[in-house]
Amino acid sequence: MTTPLSCRNYIDGRWLSAVGEATLESRNPADKTEVVATFVRSQAKDVDIAVAAARKAYHSWRKVPAPARAEYIFRVGEILLQHKEELAQLISREMGKPLTEARGDVQEGIDCAFYTAGEGRRLFGQTTPSEMSNKFAMTVRMPIGVCALITPWNFPVAIPCWKAMPALVCGNTVILKPAEDTPACATKLIEIFQQAGLPPGVINLVHGVGEEAGKALVEHPNVDLVSFTGSSETGAFVGATCGRTHKRVCLEMGGKNAQVVMEDADLELALDGAVWGAFGTTGQRCTATSRLILHRDIKEKFTTMLYERTSKLRLGAGTEPNTDIGPIVNEKQLQQVSKYLNIAREEGAKVLIGGEIASEGSLKNGYFFQPTILDNVTPDMRVAREEIFGPVVALIEVSSFEEAIAILNDSNYGLSSSVYTRDINRAFTAMRDIEAGITYINGPTIGAEVHLPFGGVKQTGNGHREAGTTAMDVFTEWKSVYVDFSGS
Ligand code: ADP
Repeated sequence: MTTPLSCRNYIDGRWLSAVGEATLESRNPADKTEVVATFVRSQAKDVDIAVAAARKAYHSWRKVPAPARAEYIFRVGEILLQHKEELAQLISREMGKPLTEARGDVQEGIDCAFYTAGEGRRLFGQTTPSEMSNKFAMTVRMPIGVCALITPWNFPVAIPCWKAMPALVCGNTVILKPAEDTPACATKLIEIFQQAGLPPGVINLVHGVGEEAGKALVEHPNVDLVSFTGSSETGAFVGATCGRTHKRVCLEMGGKNAQVVMEDADLELALDGAVWGAFGTTGQRCTATSRLILHRDIKEKFTTMLYERTSKLRLGAGTEPNTDIGPIVNEKQLQQVSKYLNIAREEGAKVLIGGEIASEGSLKNGYFFQPTILDNVTPDMRVAREEIFGPVVALIEVSSFEEAIAILNDSNYGLSSSVYTRDINRAFTAMRDIEAGITYINGPTIGAEVHLPFGGVKQTGNGHREAGTTAMDVFTEWKSVYVDFSGS
C-alpha cells in the first residue's frame, strides 16, 4: 500500500491548507481500507480566497492573446501524455474503473488539450455590413470572468479538462471543485496545469464537501459562471441558485439512455454495444445504456447471447489486468443500486442474472455489484424511468420500429441513444426523431468524441453543449463592435 496523498487547495499559485482543521479521505472502493488520499475540507472563507485570486488574475489573463493562452493548454496536453499511466493507475485506485478505461479517461483530457489549443487561433467573430455610412460593424468573443467548475467522480480527469481547457483558452479564470470521491485525481491534474506554467490565480482548486465548498461557490456573488456535471438533484439546486444570483450556468445531469435492437440488426455488433454501454464504468456513466429495447423477433436470441456474455464478465479491482467490471464508487451508490433491485422485484421485473451485491472471495472487501439483466420490464416501471447509475440493464420488448422510438423517447432525460439496424431508412428516421443530444446508429450509447458537442435535451441539461466548438459558446459572450471612420 502506498502512503496516502495529502491534498490541499491550490490558490493563487500556492498549495494551501483550508482555514479549518478538518480533513476527509478518499478510499479505494475495491477494498474499502486503502486510504488513497486525505484532503482539506474547505469552507466559505476558502472559497472567498480562491474567488478573489481568480478575479485578480482575470484582469491580466483576459488580455493575454488567445493563441498564447492556448499554448499553455497545449503544454498541459504534453505533460498529461507523459503522466498518462501514472494518472490512469490513480483513477483506478481512487474510483475503481478498470485500467483500460482509466487510460481512456486521461486520453480524453489529452485529446481535449490538443483540440482546444487549436481553438485559441480560431476564436472567430464576424464582420457584417452596417446600415450607417463609414462604419465597420463586427462581433467579437469576450470571456465571461470567474468560472466555477463543479465535477463528478466518474470521469475524474476528462470532465475537469473538458471544462477548464476551453474556459481558459477563452480568457476566463477558473476554480475547480472536484468530487469528494476523487480528490487525488484532481490534485494530480492541477499539478500538471501548474507544471505547464499557468500564471498564479488562473486555475485554482478547492477541495471539500458539495454542500459546503460547492454551495459557497455557486452562491458566491463574484463568480460569473458555474459549469456543473452531476446528479439531477444537485443540478436543480445549482440551476435555481444561479438563476437567483444571475450567473450563467451550464448543467449536465442524468440520463436514461436506451439502445434499440431491431430484427434486421447485426446481433454480434449490437451485443458488443450493449455490454459496453450497460456495464462499462460499472454502469456509472450518464451515457450508460440502462434500457435495451428489443424487437420481439430477436428478443429471445439476443437475450440468450447477452446472458452468456454477461455471465463471463469478471469483477475485480480496476488495477487488476483481467478485470472487466470494477467496483461501485462508494457505499451510498452501492445501496442505491440495491434499492433499485428491490424496486424492480416489487414491480414484477424478472432478474435474469445478477441482482445482488457481489461477495465471493475478495469481492466482499469492496463495493461490488453483480452485472444485472432485468427482463419483463414495461416502460412505466421506475426501473425503466429513473437513473440507476450501476451495472443494471432493463429489457423491454417491442413489436415495431415506431414503438421502439416512442418508448426510447418516453423519458424525462435525453442524453445518448442508439439504434442497431441495417435499414438506411430506419437509420435516418432515428436520427431525425430521437429526442437526445447524441444518437449512434450501430454503436453504443457512449459519449461523443471531444471535438463534438456533448450534452442532452429535456431534464439532462439546460441547452448548453460542452466539448467541441460549442464549448466556446459556453465560455464566451458576444460583443457587437462599431468603428466609425467618418472623422478627419
Ligand atoms: P453524486 O450524487 O454522484 O455524488 P452530486 O451531484 O452530488 O453527485 O455531485 C457532483 C458534484 O457536485 C460534486 O463535486 C459535489 O461535491 C458537488 N455538489 C454536491 N452538492 C452540492 C451543492 N449543494 N452545491 C454545489 N455543489 C454540490
